Amino acid sequence: MFQMMTGMINNIFFIIFPIVLYQMFAPAGKRNFFVSHRVTLTVLFSVSILLCMFFPYQFLTDDYIFDLRQVPMIVGALYGGPLVSAILFIVSALGRMVIGGDGMYIAILNQLLLAMGVPLLRPFYMRINRAGKVGFVFLITFLSFFFNLIAGYFLFGDPIHDLIDIWLLLMLNQGAITALAALLIEHILRQEYMLNSLMKHEKLETVSHFAASVSHELRNPLQSVKGFLQLMQEQEYSREKRLEFQGTMLEEIEAADQLINDYLLFAKPVQKQLEVLKVESEVEQVLKVMKPYAHWGKVEIRLAEFHGSAKILADKQKLHQALINIIRNGIEAMPDGGTLDIAIKERKNEVSIKVKDAGNGMTKEEIQRLGEPYFSTKSKGTGLGMMVTYSIIRQMGGEIQVSSEKGKGTSFTLSFPLV
Ligand code: ADP
Ligand code: MG
Repeated sequence: MFQMMTGMINNIFFIIFPIVLYQMFAPAGKRNFFVSHRVTLTVLFSVSILLCMFFPYQFLTDDYIFDLRQVPMIVGALYGGPLVSAILFIVSALGRMVIGGDGMYIAILNQLLLAMGVPLLRPFYMRINRAGKVGFVFLITFLSFFFNLIAGYFLFGDPIHDLIDIWLLLMLNQGAITALAALLIEHILRQEYMLNSLMKHEKLETVSHFAASVSHELRNPLQSVKGFLQLMQEQEYSREKRLEFQGTMLEEIEAADQLINDYLLFAKPVQKQLEVLKVESEVEQVLKVMKPYAHWGKVEIRLAEFHGSAKILADKQKLHQALINIIRNGIEAMPDGGTLDIAIKERKNEVSIKVKDAGNGMTKEEIQRLGEPYFSTKSKGTGLGMMVTYSIIRQMGGEIQVSSEKGKGTSFTLSFPLV
């Protein structure tokens, strides 16, 4: 009994380990089982299949040597689809041939049926709720065992005894563990979904928060165009004068157009894409979007000169979102206005962006709580900005350093590995 338990626990560990490893090492926001990292996951699942097969356990009596290889096969097929399923089948079939012995053909046939059948059920599986999913994996397990039982009886004349005390228990055993693995994956997927929707929500909040300052900023060029038009209505001007007015009006309209473009570019929904980006031009783009808001808050943004062409690998929109959150906090930390200093520095193999304000600063406790969801000291704050920023920067393999003194100001330094 004791041996059976340890054997079983080993098998469960073999199954859980790829999922836990994935949860630990895949970047937050991207743990979408087999959508990205398909190859890594297929390799990990193959390893667990082989481990399960080579370290089987006795189930209740000496007659039944059992292992849980079907669990990664079923879960892999459900989440990974036909291709992953085919590869997992090949791995398990080869493994089974190495082990040999009687029952080999039934086992391989059974695995083949699983590997072909389960991916067909995937679209249905993806649509049902969690309770449905648990029932569903039990059903697959049941069918697979049923096949073994029947095939054994007809092909080899294996008696169908031990029906309740062994087969049913085995089935429940494997069904429960498959359900456990599926639930674990569902849990991780749900967490990722929540994190991603929080990011979207936080971005929308920023976009709508900027709306007032952007429309305020748009009013200037409109007023100026209106003024010129009125002037030209009041009296006749020389052709030269008229051309001059029209030139200025065109410039104003272009500035307004550009402002709207920058704003909309930032407001656009997030598309996940990694690309090589030039740090300086990204910072400049962000500053354009921030300009109306800074202006509105009587803050002057100064970008120190940078002579370099540091490039990093990042998701453009996310990088912008992170920078905007930090710059926005800097502006908001100076309610009476002031200057915000931004400097880019390139070192051996990394580049840093420093954002320094002369605002109200933070205590040690506040610095420690930075990035905690819903931690905010502002009456209308969401406390999501820094949480999102931290997860974005971590996703990109970057780091954030904070130094702050209450009443003096704060500086945030983001550093990223260079490409
Ligand atoms: P919110 O801006 O909605 O409050 P954030 O997650 O962006 O949420 O920031 C959390 C908290 O961290 C802020 O409420 C503020 O207390 C503190 N904080 C962040 N940046 C600064 C800064 N530059 N200066 C002072 N305090 C800051
Ligand atoms: Mg904020």
